[in-house]
Amino acid sequence: MRIIALFLAIASFAFAEEQTLSIIKPDAVEHHKIGEITEYLENGGLKVVATKMVRLTTEQAKAFYAVHKDKAFYADLVKFMTSGPVLVQVLEGSDAVAVNRQIIGSASEPGTIRADFGTDVQRNAVHGSDSVDNAKKEIAFFFKTEEIFSY
Ligand code: GDP
Ligand code: MG
Repeated sequence: MRIIALFLAIASFAFAEEQTLSIIKPDAVEHHKIGEITEYLENGGLKVVATKMVRLTTEQAKAFYAVHKDKAFYADLVKFMTSGPVLVQVLEGSDAVAVNRQIIGSASEPGTIRADFGTDVQRNAVHGSDSVDNAKKEIAFFFKTEEIFSY
């Protein structure tokens, strides 16, 4: 029994159920790719437990990307992210933060979201939290607890 308990403890650590924040960015929304992108996420094992469409204000976009405030692309990024509506989602699953980043991929990895739906380094279709800590902050940035569901 102790061995089983130990195994379960290790397994729950290795495959922790997590939540992460996803944003389908204005370029992908404009290209009518909400459905296909959500399919990539769901097919990759992530469950959509919260979702809403929002048009970010300049203040919100600046705050969300504050970590990049000293970068040359910051002003452009804020302008892009406020250029049209976005779809924000909370995704849940084993190791959701890392799994989401794998599904997002990069322009050079065919079959990933950024390769298949991105246009360039800025207009890259989606955002995904880069750590469990940031995921918690980013989820709280957009969603109240009662807007996130269990099923
Ligand atoms: P991510 O975590 O993979 O989304 O990438 P970063 O945190 O480094 O950057 C945030 C976002 O800024 C990216 O998703 C892009 O939309 C944009 N971005 C990153 N690098 C550049 C760049 O060199 N030029 C421009 N114009 N935008 C960039
Ligand atoms: Mg980032």
